[in-house]
Amino acid sequence: MVVDGNVERVIARLACLPDPVAESKPRIRELADGLTPDARCGDYAQAMMDLGATICTPRNPQCLLCPIRSACAAHRAGQPEAYPVKRARAAKPRRYGAVYWLEQGAASC
Ligand code: SF4
Repeated sequence: MVVDGNVERVIARLACLPDPVAESKPRIRELADGLTPDARCGDYAQAMMDLGATICTPRNPQCLLCPIRSACAAHRAGQPEAYPVKRARAAKPRRYGAVYWLEQGAASC
C-alpha cells in the first residue's frame, strides 16, 4: 500500500501510536499492510489518502463524518489532534555577545 503523509496521520490516529511519525514508520507500514484488503487494494489506498486529505486533516479532523470512526482509538480517546505525536522541540540555545566601542581622541561636549 502507498503510505503518504495523509495515510501516516490516519494510521497514527487509528492506533494512537505513542511515538512521532519518524520513529513510527515501520509500525505504520506494518499496520497499513495489515489493513489493506486483497481485493481492490488500489481503491483502498486511494480512499485512505483521500480520507487523510479531506476528513482526517492535521487540524480539526471531521470525526463525525469519518467512515472509520468506530475503529479509531484517537477518536475514542477524545483527542484526535494529539496524533500523530509531535517530536519535542529542542530548546533553543541562549547566545550571549559583547560589544566594545573604541573612540580615538578627546570627547567633545
Ligand atoms: S475518527 Fe477522526 S481521527 Fe479517527 S481517522 Fe476518522 S477523522 Fe481521523
